[in-house]
Amino acid sequence: MERLLVVEDDPAIAGPLVRGLERAGFVVTHAPDGATALAAEPTDLVLLDLGLPDVDGTEVCRRLRARGDVPIIIVSARDDEVDRVVGLELGADDYVVKPFGLRELVARIRAVLRRRGPAGASAPHATAADEDDPALAVTTVGDLVVDRRTRRVTVDDAVVHLTPKEFDLLAALAEDPGAVRSRHDLLDDVWEGDWYGSTRTLDAHVAALRRKVGAARIETVRGVGFRLADAP
Ligand code: CA
Repeated sequence: MERLLVVEDDPAIAGPLVRGLERAGFVVTHAPDGATALAAEPTDLVLLDLGLPDVDGTEVCRRLRARGDVPIIIVSARDDEVDRVVGLELGADDYVVKPFGLRELVARIRAVLRRRGPAGASAPHATAADEDDPALAVTTVGDLVVDRRTRRVTVDDAVVHLTPKEFDLLAALAEDPGAVRSRHDLLDDVWEGDWYGSTRTLDAHVAALRRKVGAARIETVRGVGFRLADAP
């Protein structure tokens, strides 16, 4: 059975949430604040409220991420774009806005766990065949190198640190530099059709990627999608 850590300070939300998740078949640990969350035993996934009494949820997210690859779903009442972007940049796998339905939440938890695989490792985007063939695994565009086999990205020989989803997105664009990939296609490909949220998630990841690899490399094709500039 999969173990969840629910970080939520509001007992009116935490009580029914924990019971609902237990009914859905998860083993649930509840942490009412950030300190308890950071001291908890490792779990298979963390549901993280951003508004906590002791330490900000984004800081908890940052610290959990710094110490390992546990999948994190941010659950927040703050429905503004900044938090959504910040949460995803911190390496959260998904973002759910309160109020939410338990069924929707369970679907998202299952989707994230499925994507991460049983070992909790992030699922590489490229197929096994691509990874085995070093020639297919590496795309070089100018001084940008995307290696799907090692999931390593360098710009001008300097390693660029990307979150798993940012890497998957860049790898999807790098499959065919210069070609336009539609938003729908990218969501389907990178989030494997399990994405229930808005396409703003895609925009947030594109924005983060641009900051990390250079804005000019990822071009917006208005009304269609994005492409990796083949001559930035
Ligand atoms: Ca709260």
